Amino acid sequence: MRVAVFSTRQYDRVHLDRANAQAGHALIYFEHHLDAATSQLAGGFEAVSAFVNDRLDAAVLRQLAEGGTRLVALRCAGFNQVDLAVAAELGVRVVRVPAYSPYAVAEHTIALILALNRHIPRAAARVRDGNFALDGLVGFDLYGKTAGVVGTGTIGTVVVRLLHGFGCRVLACDPFPSAAATALGATYTSIETLLAESDIVTLHCPLTPDTHHLMNDDAFRLLRKGAMLINTSRGGLIDTRAAIKVLKSGHLGTLGIDVYEEEAALFFEDLSGTVIQDYVFTRLLTFPNVLVTAHQAFLTTEALDAIAETTLASVSAFAAGEPLVNEVRL
Ligand code: NAD
Repeated sequence: MRVAVFSTRQYDRVHLDRANAQAGHALIYFEHHLDAATSQLAGGFEAVSAFVNDRLDAAVLRQLAEGGTRLVALRCAGFNQVDLAVAAELGVRVVRVPAYSPYAVAEHTIALILALNRHIPRAAARVRDGNFALDGLVGFDLYGKTAGVVGTGTIGTVVVRLLHGFGCRVLACDPFPSAAATALGATYTSIETLLAESDIVTLHCPLTPDTHHLMNDDAFRLLRKGAMLINTSRGGLIDTRAAIKVLKSGHLGTLGIDVYEEEAALFFEDLSGTVIQDYVFTRLLTFPNVLVTAHQAFLTTEALDAIAETTLASVSAFAAGEPLVNEVRL
């Protein structure tokens, strides 16, 4: 099957080509995001593969359907970028990769916690500059601290295990508590209690209309003073302007994010030679207690292999008229 594969970088191609040696599809790679400006490129492709910051809104889906697309294969777990109602109306089926490596994202979450707590970026920059002073680099033991995990699905459960391994008291909240997370040491509580009692809060729930700006002014008021907030899920979970207010006041101790609500205009691109116009984002970067990575939590060899294999298996199943086990529906 001919597949138009959008938002592909060199590292995606390596893993997709490897998986495709078995699957045998015709993969045509586009570096561009899929959006209203680029959707015409997919004309004549029965299958389109897209990534996190591609925009599959009503207009794009209609354009794809008119061009003959019948399958959208997301190379990610989240599907908030797709208008599923319109896809269903057009008969365009949507598949995703529900779990590729929860370890990749969970381990990056811990990397952000440790790097922020122990000031690793500042320390490494100082040492390179011949400055071996330790002032300003004091951290805290994770052992004995309270960590709150918001959302204990595939990734959140691995985070619970890792935090428990450090000797943290782990609180969790999720509308569907998991026996696995409880067995790994989490104690379920309300979001209010979790925010009030946690030294570290880490977000692992999906972005939905209900969770949009979950961390807003009200939530930040409930958050324990000086707490660390980590987000490796979706940028829209945090009201960035509200976060900036509490960073300025000192109420929010540290912030580590791998995702940003307006990241589509920035992330996955080399903008090092340009002036970044996003004032909120650039303000965020001025804080010494904020650490930002550009949506790389998934970026491990194991995860990229699993993403490629699952995506191409879905395309093969679609081509063969077999059931789509990873289909997303409303
Ligand atoms: P999942 O569906 O397995 O788990 C999500 C959990 O969140 C579920 O248990 C659900 O019940 C819970 N939840 C829903 N609403 C909630 C709320 N209001 N409060 C608390 N919990 C709530 O998802 P997952 O695979 O663990 O992924 C978690 C997040 O990580 C998703 O947003 C996904 O898009 C994101 N993600 C990010 C990266 C990255 O590279 N940064 C990679 C993969 C996934």
